[in-house]
Amino acid sequence: MTLHSGASESDRTRSGHAVNPFYGEADPVAGMATAPPRHTLPDGPLAPHTAYQFVHDELMLDGNSRLNLATFVTTWMEPQAGVLMAECQDKNMIDKDEYPRTAELEKRCVAILADLWHAPDPATAVGCSTTGSSEACMLAGMALKRRWMRRNADRYPGAARPNLVMGANVQVCWEKFCNFWEIEARQVPMEGDRFHLDAASAAALCDENTIGVVAILGSTFDGSYEPVAEICAALDDLQERTGLDIPVHVDGASGGMVAPFLDPDLEWDFRLPRVASINTSGHKYGLVYPGVGWALWRDAEALPEELVFRVNYLGGDMPTFALNFSRPGAQVAAQYYTFLRLGRDGYRAVQQATRDVACSMAERIGALDDFRLLTRGDELPVFAFTTADDVTAFDVFDVSRRMKERGWLIPAYTFPANREDLSVLRVVCRNGFSQDLADLFLTDLEQLLTELRRQPHPLERPERMATAFHH
Ligand SMILES: *Cc1c(COP(=O)(O)O)cnc(C)c1O
Repeated sequence: MTLHSGASESDRTRSGHAVNPFYGEADPVAGMATAPPRHTLPDGPLAPHTAYQFVHDELMLDGNSRLNLATFVTTWMEPQAGVLMAECQDKNMIDKDEYPRTAELEKRCVAILADLWHAPDPATAVGCSTTGSSEACMLAGMALKRRWMRRNADRYPGAARPNLVMGANVQVCWEKFCNFWEIEARQVPMEGDRFHLDAASAAALCDENTIGVVAILGSTFDGSYEPVAEICAALDDLQERTGLDIPVHVDGASGGMVAPFLDPDLEWDFRLPRVASINTSGHKYGLVYPGVGWALWRDAEALPEELVFRVNYLGGDMPTFALNFSRPGAQVAAQYYTFLRLGRDGYRAVQQATRDVACSMAERIGALDDFRLLTRGDELPVFAFTTADDVTAFDVFDVSRRMKERGWLIPAYTFPANREDLSVLRVVCRNGFSQDLADLFLTDLEQLLTELRRQPHPLERPERMATAFHH
């Protein structure tokens, strides 16, 4: 697309030949033959089409989001959603009195999620939209901390230091939460082929200073669901033995919008009385462009009233719980659109198609002698794999780097404690990643493997030998 509006006198060179007006004209307003300053404000304005073209052209160097198999975030929506979002991009979510219908759509989304996640009484479940799961986790974590503080007012602040129990596979937002709010992060390490939190280890780390346990549905490292019901049962047992009543927060950033449609019998949500709060990313399997997330509490008691602010200077009296004040409203409108557009059957169809692609892709990769699967894409539509034990000619980082040459963005990374020895590749399948694209990916991967199998061992390659020499 070009936003230029036709040739003019300034579009002509001195010799009189018409040239491309953007790229052949040194005029600072009309042309692009000189680069504008990058780190200071330019002295004067540029024409809108020129400024557009500079920014547009630079962004061509970004990766293609649709080929980005690293991200969980929605990279394809229907055109109608794009139109709706463009219509709402000037709406500020905080102006609830001025934009009452946007506020109403947010409320409806909370009610829809409360129902979907089996809140005991969806009418009294409380919740809010956020910029993503990270903000939602901060809010849920603060509620856990505040509830613990109330129960331990005699010891805190003072001698007691609150802690939060989680697996070492948590998303970084939980490390941020613990750092920002001065909570000890008690992490259960991975062990052998257990790549996420298990019930016995979670209960064993709890004590009188534990504000809660975080269970993840599912893990960003490998797409596996943590055993939320087992974790709750182990905490029930702990309560019987010790009297400690530890609430659970479910980080359903991805799985909160997958499991209700594909695994309806899996009990991970408010059906479990110990689950106090749940978050999800509307912009992951909620199928909305970034950034929107959701935080819900099972009832008003789970969210201490003193954390909720009453904003009245915009007119009206509106309760809000958020870290941000101003925040875009378009994503909330798009979430409501998607709920309305797809319904239960539509979500089930989309998530099932995505899971089918993930499972068949995982199976085909697992069938190659070069790789060993860690997960199969049958929980989150996400799977992780590593090189087979006898593969020495290349490692997962080579595969990641070389697939990039073909446009595919597939991350390679090492696992956390105690499996730092394990390096994996991970594929996140999303709406819009069709079987056809998956076939193209596999064709490229197989071609690459024929090259990689022939190359010298990593430690014998000239560039690595040079590095080794210098050290
Ligand atoms: C993505 C993710 C987050 C962070 O969510 P954002 O929406 O990106 O802020 C938190 N927890 C888990 C398990 C995630 O997958």
